[in-house]
Amino acid sequence: VLSPGDKVLMSRFGQFSHLWVDMAERLGFEVDVIDCQWGTGVPLDIYAEKLHADKAHRIKAVFCTQNETATGVTSDVAGCRAALDAANHPALLFVDGVSSIGSIDFRQEEWRVDCAVSGSQKGFMLPAGLGFLSVSQKALAASKTATHRHCYFSFDDMIRANDTGYFPYTPATQLLRGLRASLDLIAEEGLETIFARHHRLAEGVRKAVDAWGLKLCAKQRKWHSDTVSAILVPEGIDSADVVKRAYQKYNTSLGGGLNKVAGKVFRIGHLGWLNEVMVLGSLAAAELALLDCGVDLAP
Ligand SMILES: *Cc1c(COP(=O)(O)O)cnc(C)c1O
Repeated sequence: VLSPGDKVLMSRFGQFSHLWVDMAERLGFEVDVIDCQWGTGVPLDIYAEKLHADKAHRIKAVFCTQNETATGVTSDVAGCRAALDAANHPALLFVDGVSSIGSIDFRQEEWRVDCAVSGSQKGFMLPAGLGFLSVSQKALAASKTATHRHCYFSFDDMIRANDTGYFPYTPATQLLRGLRASLDLIAEEGLETIFARHHRLAEGVRKAVDAWGLKLCAKQRKWHSDTVSAILVPEGIDSADVVKRAYQKYNTSLGGGLNKVAGKVFRIGHLGWLNEVMVLGSLAAAELALLDCGVDLAP
């Protein structure tokens, strides 16, 4: 949907938003990147300012990582749409929904998101292997005149084959069968119930973090993610030791700290097929590992 050298507006506040910026730079776009403190999310006020100032409409796309998985921060996609609308700006809106779609609220049509990407390995509860891309009519129209080279993501090829129930390439049939089962589970529980369950379980994790006397990497309540919590360890403790201890002693896989927050945070993932007892199990293992590593907390 873009052409080489197009200007795009992005923000970076964690490893996944960083990788997206890196991708856009390497693909040859002119990236206006706003670096934000890790633990915050998409800076809507700066987006609004930049879009308002861009009278010539040089910005062709605005990017939003809806859920930054490295820091446990959820950003406001509807707010990005509102910033575009307030500036009457025609740029496309791109959303990385890898760790949010299917687990927390996402409304492609209502928020008029032009390209939304997700993957099979998070809220869709499957092994890694499928990438999902959902595009608007506006993005399809933009693809007709965009000149960036592509082959695999030729929408025409995909749509032509998909319309007859096929793919232009060999599909990962086993994952598509798995996806059928995942979508049945999702439909059976209902999205609203799923979002509420994620919120309830995430609140449980956040209450445990509070009770431990620790802090989340996410700086404010509005950034709190319902699919993953990144927890800051006290000064003098290496979070990698906590992760290692949980794995070796308690057979529990916590997430490590990535890039700028390496050694500083560990992460508890709480998305997908998950219930209260599973969350309590991971909290128990995290608590024991923290104690073993010398963190002073009341169990
Ligand atoms: C997991 C994740 C990715 C990476 O997905 P890959 O399939 O490894 O490319 C990208 N963005 C977010 C927000 C993620 O959580």
